[in-house]
Amino acid sequence: MLQKNKLIDKFNRHLNYLRISITDRCNLRCLYCVPPDKIPKLKHEDILRYEEIIRIVRVGVDLGIKKVRITGGEPLVRKGAKDFLKSLSEIKGLEDISLTTNGVLLKDSIESILSAGIRRINVSLDSLDPQTYKKITGFDMFNRVWAGIMCAHENGLSPIKLNVVPLRGRNDNELFDFANLSFKYPFHIRFIEYMPIGHSDINAQKAIYAPELQERFSKIGNLISVEKGLQDGPAKRFRFEGAKGEIGFITAMTHNFCRNCNRMRLTADGQLRACLLSDIQTDLKTPIRNGCSDEVIAEVLLKAALSKGEAHKLSESTTPAVSSQMSAIGG
Ligand code: SAM
Repeated sequence: MLQKNKLIDKFNRHLNYLRISITDRCNLRCLYCVPPDKIPKLKHEDILRYEEIIRIVRVGVDLGIKKVRITGGEPLVRKGAKDFLKSLSEIKGLEDISLTTNGVLLKDSIESILSAGIRRINVSLDSLDPQTYKKITGFDMFNRVWAGIMCAHENGLSPIKLNVVPLRGRNDNELFDFANLSFKYPFHIRFIEYMPIGHSDINAQKAIYAPELQERFSKIGNLISVEKGLQDGPAKRFRFEGAKGEIGFITAMTHNFCRNCNRMRLTADGQLRACLLSDIQTDLKTPIRNGCSDEVIAEVLLKAALSKGEAHKLSESTTPAVSSQMSAIGG
C-alpha cells in the first residue's frame, strides 16, 4: 500500500495534473518549436514504453493526479497510441484525459479518441491560410488539419481549443480571421506567448505578447471577459459579443501564472519536470528500468514535486532559457 502522501510542493500547490509526452517525434516542423538544423531524436529504447507510462499514472493517481494530458512531439504519430489511450481511460481515479495534437492524424484517430472517453482536445493551428500554414509548419497540411478539426467538432468534442503562437510578420495579419472563426464556431482560440525553449528559428523579437494582441483585438470588436471555471487552465478568456467561441491568451511571459500552477510533466524519456520553464528534472526511467517498486515510483514523484520552484525565471530574453526542445518535454 502506498503511503498517503500527496503531490504537494513547497509552496502548498497541489500538483494534480500530469502532462505526458509520449514521443519526441513529430510530423510537422513548426519553426518556433524545432531547431533550424537537424532535430535530435531520442533513441527508441530511451522512450518510455506504454506500460511504464501507465504504471506511473496509476501511482500518480494514488498521489492525487486527477488529470492527464497526452502530448509530444506529436502523440498521434506513435504506434499503438490508440490502444494506449484506451488503457489510460481504464485507470480508476483518473478523472480527465485530454490530448494536444497538431491535427494531421486527427480524422484517422477520432474513433479511438472517442472510445477512450476523451472529449477535450487542443489542436495547434497557427494559420488559417494554407500557404502561411505551410511556411510555419513546413508542410502543406492545412486542409487535412482543418478536416480533422471539423470531424472532431461534428463528433461532439468540446471545447476544441485551437492553439496559436502569434509571430510578428508571420501570422499576425490573421487576427481578424481568427476573431471571425470564433463567431462561426464554438472553438476556444488561444494565443500562446512564444517561450524561449530549446533552439528554433524564432527569437523573442518575433513574439507578440498578450497585451499587444488584446489591444489589436479590441479594435476588431468588444472583447468581454469570460469567468474562469474550476477546471480551467491558465488562459485569460474572452468572447466577442455574440460569438459562439472564445479568444484566450496564455501569458507565460508577460504575466506568469505560476502561483496557481498544478502541473507536472513526464518527458518522453521518463524524466519528471515540475516546471516547463526550468531544466530541473528528476529521473524516473532509471529506477523503473532497474525494477523498482511502486513505492519507489511514488517517492520519485514526491521528490520531483518538491523540486518545483516558486515561479519561473524567464524574462523576455533572446537566449533560450530552457535547453531541451519543447518536443521532448511536451508542450
Ligand atoms: N504536436 C502537438 C501539437 O502540435 O499540438 C503537441 C506538442 S506541441 C509542442 C504543444 C504546443 O506547444 C503547441 O500548441 C505549440 O504551438 C506549443 N509550442 C511549441 N513550442 C513553443 C514555444 N517555444 N512557445 C510557445 N508555445 C510553443
